[in-house]
This record gives sequence, structure tokens and C-alpha cells, in this order.
Amino acid sequence: MKKIITDIVDFLNINSNTGNTLEALQWIKKKCNELDIEIFFEQNGNILAKKQNLAASGLVLSGHYDTVKGDIKVELTDDFIYGRGSSDMKSGVLSMLYAVSKATILSPVIALTCDEETDSSGANLLKEMVKDYKYCIVCEPTSLKLCTAHRGRTVYKLVLKGERVHASVSPMNNVFYELSKVLSFLKTFPNKKNDFLGLETITPVSVKSYPDIYNVTPDKLELFIDRRKTTSINNFEEDLEIIRNMFDKINLKNYYIEIDPNRKFNTLSYFCKDKNFINIAKKSMKNLKLDCNEYPFTATCDGSFFGEKLPVLILGPGDLSEAHTKNEKVNIEQILKSVELYLNINKGVFNGL
Ligand SMILES: [Zn+2]
Repeated sequence: MKKIITDIVDFLNINSNTGNTLEALQWIKKKCNELDIEIFFEQNGNILAKKQNLAASGLVLSGHYDTVKGDIKVELTDDFIYGRGSSDMKSGVLSMLYAVSKATILSPVIALTCDEETDSSGANLLKEMVKDYKYCIVCEPTSLKLCTAHRGRTVYKLVLKGERVHASVSPMNNVFYELSKVLSFLKTFPNKKNDFLGLETITPVSVKSYPDIYNVTPDKLELFIDRRKTTSINNFEEDLEIIRNMFDKINLKNYYIEIDPNRKFNTLSYFCKDKNFINIAKKSMKNLKLDCNEYPFTATCDGSFFGEKLPVLILGPGDLSEAHTKNEKVNIEQILKSVELYLNINKGVFNGL
């Protein structure tokens, strides 16, 4: 059995759901040491590393070693490794480490974060430190398909103001009737479509009333709306303007809408526009007889933040549809191929096309 496979099994046996990643960090440090990888920056469990005694090639390999909760028995079969984080994305992390340890002339830089599954503070810290490198691959599970774009995700808070009166009075301006107008409208909201990333969505997900008691009508309702953008915009205000213009059509009375202030980071949709980087990746994929077409990444990831500073592609072992499930697993052949692929792309980056 190849060492990388037994290492992944070992790594999966360490629980590392977000907020509980210290032991996994210690394991990574030990593994870096064994693989001649030097860690040159560390803060709050987020690290930057490269092959000892080699200069940086300009390629950043990014990954996260936190996982969502829910233990799954770690199992190894002929073709798969099962376990929480096997696909999202401890196999990707080990593939990055092995690729760097095998680098000979110039080394990719590894950017590892420990909180991607919650608020991506790690990526927001590291993006500033890697901004002068040339390109970034986020090694999230894409079944080794080249993903050149991903959706954005924002949570908006819509506030509707009403009038607090005794429930027995039953006034017609009960703010819940305003809410019902909003909900019916959201069902038929004319969402835009992008040919590559598909139809965007606007989905009510939660509601709070103030006061939250049974004998009066509330004077305020807050509706939380999950927004997945697939079309290209430059900032969140542009999208808010689209939504406000739509709400004008239903004559909402007393309302305002804003980005949910309790959510730390939101993301815009992202499209990699660097043709040179895409071609380097495609050439390497062709060398390894992999599918060279471009695909969308339907989830969001740390790439949303690194993409603000340098061109990003998403490419890694494991199937995204398995991530976070009870049956999470990763295909062993994909892991071995991804190590070769990252090395090959690294050469393409410093040799140029
Ligand atoms: Zn992930």
C-alpha cells in the first residue's frame, strides 16, 4: 500500500471538525517534517509551507483540514477510503503535501486553513500573504475535473416593520400579511441565469418576530434570505439594487434589506479569467489523460477569497456530492493522480507555456 494512502487513513482517524483542529494541526506539522516541508508562517492554525531549501514557483495549493461534524468509520477498500473528511478534503490536503515533497526545482506554496466549513477567517488571513504569487489551485473535491468558476453565496436580512397591537384587535396592517406578499413574490422571483453556473436562487430560510409572543402582532419581522449568485457582479450592492427594484413592484410598505450583519463573510460568484493559467492546467491534464473540459464548482469554498487576489482554479480528488454525507468516501486512483497533476501544473507554471 502506498504511503500516502496509509497517511490519509491515519489523518482521517483524527477528528477535526471546525473549532476542534489542534490535534490535526500537530499531525500535519509532524508530517511536514517527515516530508521535508518547512512551515514558514503559522497563525491560529492557518499555515503557509513549502519544500525545504527550494524557492517558491509561484503556484499556491490551498486546502482546509477542518471537516463538518459527524463521525464515519474510517475504512479502506481496494478502490476507496471512507471517513469524515475523506473527500472534503483531507485527501486533497495530503495530495498537496506529497506533491510539494516531490518538487525538485521550485516548490508550490501550501496554504492550509482550519475553518473553511464555518467562516473562512483563515482564507481571509492567508489571501493577503499569497497575493504576490502567480496562481492558486484550491484542492477541493471536483472528481479531478477542472473547475473554472463557482457560485457566490450571500445571506440578506429583510426587515419588515409593523404595528404592535393586541391580537384580539386583528388589524389589517398586521406585518405578517406583508411577509406573505414577500414569500409569494420570492417563489416567482425572476432569477437570472448564467450559461455556465446555471440558474441563481433566492431562498427564504428563517424568520424572527419581535416581540416573539402570542398575544400581540409584532412590530418587526426579520426574514433571512439565502442568495446564490451565478451571474457576474462586482459587489453586493449591485445585487441588493436588483432585489430592491423587484420589491418595488409589490409595493412593500415599511421595509429595508441589508447583508446579514451577523455573517462574517459572504462571497460573490467567481470566474477565472486567466486563460494562461487555464491552459497550463489543461495541458497537464492532457498529459495525464484526464478530462480537459471546464466545469463549474457548485458549492462555495476558500477560493472565493483567494480569487480576490490571484487567479484561482478548483481541482482535487473526491466527489463533491459525497462531501458532508454519511457515506463520504474518496477514490484512491484520484488521489494518486492528483499528486502527479499538481506537480505537473507546478512545472507548467514555472516553465511557462
Ligand atoms: Zn471543502
